[in-house]
Amino acid sequence: MRRKLVVGNWKMHGDIQSNQTLLEGITNGVRELSNADYVVCVPNPYLFQARELLKNTNVAWGGQNVNQHEQGAFTGAVAPHMLTDLGCTYVLLGHSERRSLFYETNLTASARFEAAIKAGLTPILCVGETQAERDAGLTEVIVASQMDAVMATLDEHEFALAMRLNMVFAYEPVWAIGSGKTASPDHAQTVHHFIRNRIAKRNAEAATKVRIIYGGSLKAKNAEDMFAMTDIDGGLVGGASLLLDEFVSICKVAN
Ligand code: PEP
Repeated sequence: MRRKLVVGNWKMHGDIQSNQTLLEGITNGVRELSNADYVVCVPNPYLFQARELLKNTNVAWGGQNVNQHEQGAFTGAVAPHMLTDLGCTYVLLGHSERRSLFYETNLTASARFEAAIKAGLTPILCVGETQAERDAGLTEVIVASQMDAVMATLDEHEFALAMRLNMVFAYEPVWAIGSGKTASPDHAQTVHHFIRNRIAKRNAEAATKVRIIYGGSLKAKNAEDMFAMTDIDGGLVGGASLLLDEFVSICKVAN
């Protein structure tokens, strides 16, 4: 049985004061919830604050992206070891906003995945189709290309390392992100099953262990039906992760 995982993606929101209220509220709200894992991915400037407020709690913290280079003249970029220096254990990669607004590709997501695991970070690779791709019947083609790019990048040693770090995949249909249009549990289950099969092509045992979480307008009211599906191991939560009661309620469902 895979432990459920709930990850909050704050995106570019927050300030010192409101972060403190939210983080203290989350730690209080999930303290007794010991049957699932909880993570918040905060903007980089607030990782220091996350470390101060979340150390010795059952809430982990992570970055929303990372660069593939270890150091150098890459203005504005953040290296994997900088995230681990700040106590991050997770990092989001290939989020659709990074792909659509910042020109990131399967190639950059794969290189970053590789760099993240080498630094000891648990990668959460986001995959998912746009509305147009869905309408054209291309969901599986797109998701397969996003998955296969990473699988092809990892050699045997790296794949084993990614497994030891409990790599995570997040199915996030782009049309569901921030739109209020959640995928139906049946649609999400079908794609999660497809993703698991894709991993099984590489390593059947690994596929049974990998957590695949759903993201896209997830709220407390739809989390129960989603999390009940066989291949849905939790959620990646954007908007609702900024709402204390909603986020804690989703964590309770996962627990
Ligand atoms: C996200 O950005 O990862 C996300 C799932 O956003 P939302 O929950 O707001 O749709």
